Amino acid sequence: MKKLVAFAFIALLLSGCATTSKIDASISAVSQEDRIQFIILHYTAIDQPTSLKVLSQQGVSSHYLVGDQNPVPVWQLVDEQRMSYHAGLSEWKGYSRLNASSIGIEIVNLGYKDTATGREYFPFPPAQIDRVIALVKDISARHQIRPEYILGHSDIAPQRKSDPGPLFPWKRLADAGLIPWPVSEEVIQRMSVYETQLPEIKWFQEKLMQYGYTVPQNGLLDTATRNVLIAFQSKYRSEKFDGQPDAQTAAILESLLGQIKPR
Ligand SMILES: [Zn+2]
Repeated sequence: MKKLVAFAFIALLLSGCATTSKIDASISAVSQEDRIQFIILHYTAIDQPTSLKVLSQQGVSSHYLVGDQNPVPVWQLVDEQRMSYHAGLSEWKGYSRLNASSIGIEIVNLGYKDTATGREYFPFPPAQIDRVIALVKDISARHQIRPEYILGHSDIAPQRKSDPGPLFPWKRLADAGLIPWPVSEEVIQRMSVYETQLPEIKWFQEKLMQYGYTVPQNGLLDTATRNVLIAFQSKYRSEKFDGQPDAQTAAILESLLGQIKPR
């Protein structure tokens, strides 16, 4: 009898447990979105075997690594639901520490070498970019990434990073419908206006911040502001990225801002 009572008591406890531990997931909040907001592109600045070794065995990592051999290999080194360590201190449009909210793609490319005649950058083979585009397309479709949140390391950390560099063909990503791109007729038209009256430094700083960059708002062409201009120019006007504000840069910036849809 004692045994039976004890059994009934335990059964009661267990059923009580079962009811309180059950979580009701039948109501879903309307205010929610994917944790992954950004795709960040990098170059590794080292060869393929070394890239694979460093990104899989050391304190830095990326979700994906796109090689430079033929056929172009792609490795997934970190699950997309987990964080990889590719961005470091980084900011875009008020977001910071973008490792937490991004997918990182490292692309094997040696970066640049400094020669007697100046800095030389290594080109990206078209087949490698084909794979990058396919990968970015797939990720952005699955996570509904906004086009203006597909960025380079130099966009989110312009004071310390310059990858994926001026030879990375961002235009090809734009042609694939992945990122915003300045409209050339609009740029030509706006340029003629800005050539007669170049906007002040403060104007550039405000517009660059509006676009997403973290940039001083002090009206001075200081090193930090020049670094942001270099990042912007090397992406959208790679034939000249001297960090100097000019009419074409102003026109490109305006054209891009016109394409960003408000949230
Ligand atoms: Zn990087």
